[in-house]
Amino acid sequence: MQKIKNYINGEFVNPINNNWLDNYNPSNGEIYGQIPNSTVEDIDLAYNAAQSAFSQWSNTTLGTRSKILSKIAELIKEKLDFLAEAESKDNGKPISLATAIDIPRAAANFQFFANAITQFASESHESVGLDAVNFTLRQPIGVVGCISPWNLPLYLFTWKIAPAIAAGNCVIAKPSEVTPMTAYLLGEICTEAGLPKGVLNIVHGLGTTTGQAIVEHPNIKAISFTGGTQTGAHIARVAAPMFKKLSLELGGKNPNIIFADCDYDKMLETTVRSSFANQGQICLCGSRIFVEASIYEKFKKDFVQKVKQLQVGHPSEKSTNIGALVSRSHLEKVESYVKIAEDEGGKVLCGGLEVTVPGYENGYYFQPTIIEVQDNSCRINQEEVFGPVVTMMSFKTDEEALQLANDVTYGLSATLWTNNLNRTMQFSKQLQTGIVWVNTWMLRDLRTPFGGSKASGVGREGGFEALRFFTEAKNICIKYE
Ligand code: NDP
Repeated sequence: MQKIKNYINGEFVNPINNNWLDNYNPSNGEIYGQIPNSTVEDIDLAYNAAQSAFSQWSNTTLGTRSKILSKIAELIKEKLDFLAEAESKDNGKPISLATAIDIPRAAANFQFFANAITQFASESHESVGLDAVNFTLRQPIGVVGCISPWNLPLYLFTWKIAPAIAAGNCVIAKPSEVTPMTAYLLGEICTEAGLPKGVLNIVHGLGTTTGQAIVEHPNIKAISFTGGTQTGAHIARVAAPMFKKLSLELGGKNPNIIFADCDYDKMLETTVRSSFANQGQICLCGSRIFVEASIYEKFKKDFVQKVKQLQVGHPSEKSTNIGALVSRSHLEKVESYVKIAEDEGGKVLCGGLEVTVPGYENGYYFQPTIIEVQDNSCRINQEEVFGPVVTMMSFKTDEEALQLANDVTYGLSATLWTNNLNRTMQFSKQLQTGIVWVNTWMLRDLRTPFGGSKASGVGREGGFEALRFFTEAKNICIKYE
């Protein structure tokens, strides 16, 4: 049984209390490893290492930082198969997905910020007539905390760490306790790439103890968090009195709005993906599908038929489209939402049940599920399920579609299918979300601002936005004669 350790000051160490948690393989429900159940003492140790490394790292040239980040990217690419296998085993996602998306994106995160930091500039303002010039210094914050969820483990972990260290900060990072493996392996890679000791410290454990200790630490001045809305609200409450900088990337209940004038085949194929990729466990999945009435029945028939063809199976099988959900408790939550939807009058068009995969009877498998609803105010349309469950209903006018799309507390992303330019612009301006995809889904350009509005979070990551978050702006005003 593999024991994962904390990565502190460049060394792999046991938790100080020698307390351990079990790590489960979602594909068969078996315990296959243990991870540290770290406490505030481990966070203090990590903080001391990070603080000691800060003065040197923040003065390391951009060229050197860039080279080290590029080397980390290169090593991730070299270990693609190994890391993809580890990710798939730890999370339950199809290995094909981890190989095509998760691990390449983790490498891309490091490569992107290796380049971005060499191009990051700040403003200067000449105060004409006052004989003064102002310029902005963007200085690293110091020791920062990065906390990430289980759905895209290495992908989201590195999305935070790469800009934080590129900007000259030292980091204490905590992956989800449910998916710790690739974060652990990243420690080895960072050492191999020559990242100085203490610049990145990875501490494993429960959100409510290890994560909480990061958020409560008085000298960790910024927290970048991706996870659930409730957790985000809790973190904001803890951090606010200490005036920490916060970036909160939270939950979503994203609309997928389909007009009759779209490219139908492309829309259908993409909607299958945007509904069920990664077992529907992507914050950007389109979980509320709104279809123009004139094509509703045709879409319903075609969509159900396509979704029924998706193979639920062991993550390592090439034929698998839908792997295992991340945990037994998550599967139970997803299942409970199907019941809630039915009680509210929703009609299950396909799926809705747990799946037994022969040979892996204790794994956490669930059918891709489509539920037809009549009213957007039902719980299944208002609450985040974060699993392979989507709803669909029809609309008649643009105004109605927009109203339905915005009638939710969340505001992360929206997808719009239309070939009408005026409609595209009207929806783009009026959708209350941080991201709008038109005639595509999850096409990511890492230079763009990423984040949500309303209950989907505050702050933006990605591109220079992330480098701005991980630096403190200081105005210098020089008066001359
Ligand atoms: P959680 O909010 O439960 O956990 C996220 C992370 O926070 C985990 O590492 C967790 O640790 C930790 N954590 C939990 N409680 C605390 C606490 N009190 N203080 C500090 N850290 C804490 O989310 P999930 O892991 O269940 O992830 C799913 C959620 O993430 C969904 O709502 C999804 O929409 C959202 N998400 C948002 C994205 C975005 O970009 N907007 C992208 C991806 C996911 P532990 O796991 O050990 O409990």
